[in-house]
Amino acid sequence: MSRLDRHTLEPLLRDSTERALTYLATLDERPVGPTAEALGALGAFDEVLPDGPGDPRATVELLDRVGSPATVASNGGRYFGFVIGGALPAAMASSWVATAWDQNSALPVMSPVAAKLHQVTTRWLVELLRLPPATTAVFVTGASMANVTALTAARDAQLARAGWDVQAEGLFGAPEITVVVGEKAHSTVVKALGVIGLGRNRVVTIPADDQGRLQPHLLPAKVQGPAIVCAQAGEVNTGAFDPFNAIAEWARSNDAWLHVDGAFGLWAAVDPTRQHLTAGLDRADSWATDGHKWLNVGYDCGIAFARRPEDLRRSFASTAGYLPPDDGRGFEVMHHSPAASQRARQIEVWAALRSLGRAGVTDLVQRTCRYAETMAAGLDHAGLHVLNQVVLNQVLVRDETDEATRALVEAVQADGTCWCGPTTWGGRPAMRISVSGWATDEADVVASVRAITAARHAARPHAG
Ligand SMILES: *Cc1c(COP(=O)(O)O)cnc(C)c1O
Repeated sequence: MSRLDRHTLEPLLRDSTERALTYLATLDERPVGPTAEALGALGAFDEVLPDGPGDPRATVELLDRVGSPATVASNGGRYFGFVIGGALPAAMASSWVATAWDQNSALPVMSPVAAKLHQVTTRWLVELLRLPPATTAVFVTGASMANVTALTAARDAQLARAGWDVQAEGLFGAPEITVVVGEKAHSTVVKALGVIGLGRNRVVTIPADDQGRLQPHLLPAKVQGPAIVCAQAGEVNTGAFDPFNAIAEWARSNDAWLHVDGAFGLWAAVDPTRQHLTAGLDRADSWATDGHKWLNVGYDCGIAFARRPEDLRRSFASTAGYLPPDDGRGFEVMHHSPAASQRARQIEVWAALRSLGRAGVTDLVQRTCRYAETMAAGLDHAGLHVLNQVVLNQVLVRDETDEATRALVEAVQADGTCWCGPTTWGGRPAMRISVSGWATDEADVVASVRAITAARHAARPHAG
């Protein structure tokens, strides 16, 4: 194909649309995990690199024929593994248009529309998530990178306060930073600390309670010098929230930076009935969340928020002769986040928010939380032990013995009606259920409880 004319593109894009529609329409009929046959067929991709060009439609045909059956149906209504949302129709369709645009969102001069939608989406998010009004957002690949982004800003701001320019001088010889995390901090927070040179193990770890909440009375009495404390909104197993007000008090009296990892839990702030969980959340200096989890936009999309834009700029501004001076055209993404060139992830977030409206986002959160409660009640009724207080969209269950729990997870996955993943809690195996997809409905929940119950009986034929 040489030109972007309609005559050349139309058959290709119509064919792709048709394939996508067929895929989506049959998502709920197929097993959630791919069949062994589909996995075996992936060998068809083991080709030598073609010597020369071919018909793009043949490439898409191969992708669909061999690739589609080997996907995990996580975009459907009965996928409860990890914390994975689907893709809302408006987000998906906007992403197709935005793919055609192929905009680089690094600077306003590269894409005025991306800059405009960055501004609008940031305003909407800050309002919805009840963050301080001047809060800035950057759209990154996920909460992992949002944690890296925010914790870099935290590190640099805390060291700047101590008279140290870490971007110029590096960490060698810098004043030490006390980094405090809860025992149940997400692995990506710990990874981010390692990536930015603060160390995965060189942290003060505060024990958590039985729900995974940091116990604030165990915070150190007083720390000297730069300090960062990481709190969590939504523990990956239990959905529990750290006590933000108590942690914010501690941060204030120690001049520490408070970062909140709220990859999915931050969205609880949209639900008026869950404000007891998010109280004090707005007192933090930075927040990390995901668009691709509970908001149900496509991959990849995370969001880092900073209370003060200058804290991002201190860490991420870059200079080069060809870069325009700040011309007031809008927010310069590349000077406030790790990447320069990037796709305009805010477009899908904007589309999701605009198509749902405030009430729709609230309903998404409330509905999935209600399904989690239904799921917990159904599984409790079936004789499983529900290990967590179901305060959000996460349910943690266990069978009588560790062996039975492991067998249950395997049997559920093999059955294919729904998909739930294994985890460990309190040092023992458990099964984790996350209701994060917009497409899940009451019937999916009923069918899944029934399938898990049946899988339990199949896995333990001699038990009652
Ligand atoms: C998923 C998750 C992350 C990491 O997010 P990615 O989008 O996978 O990078 C971080 N923290 C928590 C609490 C999470 O649930």
